[in-house]
Amino acid sequence: MFENFFEANRDSANKARQGKQTTGKKVIGVMPEYFPSEVITALGAYPVYFKGTQIPISRADTYLQSFSCTTTRTILEQAMKGDMDYVDGFVFTTMCDNQQNLSEVFRKLFPEKPVINFMIPFANSASIRQQHLKEELDKAIGALEPVTGKKFTQEGFKQAVSVYERRHALVKRLYDLRKRNPKALSAYEFYSIFKAGSVLPVEEFIGMLGPVVSELEKKAVQPVEHRVIISGITPEPLELAKVFDELEMYIVDDDMTNGARQHSKGVLAGVDAVSIDNFVFGGSPCSTLYNPAKDRRVYLADKAAENKAAVVLWQIKFCEPEAFERPDLMAYLKQHGIQVTSFEVELQMNSFEGIKTRLQAFKEIL
Ligand code: SF4
Repeated sequence: MFENFFEANRDSANKARQGKQTTGKKVIGVMPEYFPSEVITALGAYPVYFKGTQIPISRADTYLQSFSCTTTRTILEQAMKGDMDYVDGFVFTTMCDNQQNLSEVFRKLFPEKPVINFMIPFANSASIRQQHLKEELDKAIGALEPVTGKKFTQEGFKQAVSVYERRHALVKRLYDLRKRNPKALSAYEFYSIFKAGSVLPVEEFIGMLGPVVSELEKKAVQPVEHRVIISGITPEPLELAKVFDELEMYIVDDDMTNGARQHSKGVLAGVDAVSIDNFVFGGSPCSTLYNPAKDRRVYLADKAAENKAAVVLWQIKFCEPEAFERPDLMAYLKQHGIQVTSFEVELQMNSFEGIKTRLQAFKEIL
């Protein structure tokens, strides 16, 4: 049932090259979150999202310090290896220093490919934030038009929105299903679907996901004992999800970019200031977004209580936004009687025995 998704992830560069060929569209590489796919699709292009992956790093270390997070280092490695040769232009969101730095490296190393920055403001005032985001979006659309060769139109946008509404409805069904029946699919299968969704043309992804969700919904609900919520930036290396499966620790929710953070934003309703603000800041709280109106501690505590689940912080080494939030987040959850633990990973790692032992010990106290 999941083989098509696994296959897309086995060689994502090739899958995207095929996607480019079959759709005949220009490809826009998005680094790694918060720029709306709806806009890229409305411009007749095909968005591919890069969120870091499990590959050995050799070339990227010439340009990035070894204490940069492995999300950025593996993204650069993919590019230098030639795994982004099919990309016609890039959009970076300025969510942290590492991403900002990476956009400059891309600009220098790949001068033939336009690099567009979509700056997300740190502002206390919602109206200033909205205004700024609107200006940034207009600038990005203006810069994308020559890359895609298409003009942005309201008609094109409406069509793109209807596609993403279908995608969103399916993803919501999948999330609801997992919460209701965590045994319906493994964590590895679940996150493989989302990883494939970052690289596949959206229509193809919808076509693959629809029958899978319908099939999974037919499964009888089975009780589970150990429910957890994972929290962090991205559930990579994906192989690590298998450890949760082996330990029978059932992931029932998350706030990851390759997961709930993506779909909790909903679909971009318009290209006006309020809609783009709702899109960027409307989803689950994120350590990379400054949003005084949303407290991630409260959000996670509520989620954990609602799901009768413990919390596992899946952290990427040298990710400053996450590292800064972790102590306070853990203290708050503990104070509110929620079991919480954390571990750090590097994306290129392939041995998880140490983490498995820690998770096993954590499971025993649940
Ligand atoms: S948010 Fe964290 S993991 Fe993502 S690019 Fe920035 S430092 Fe790296």
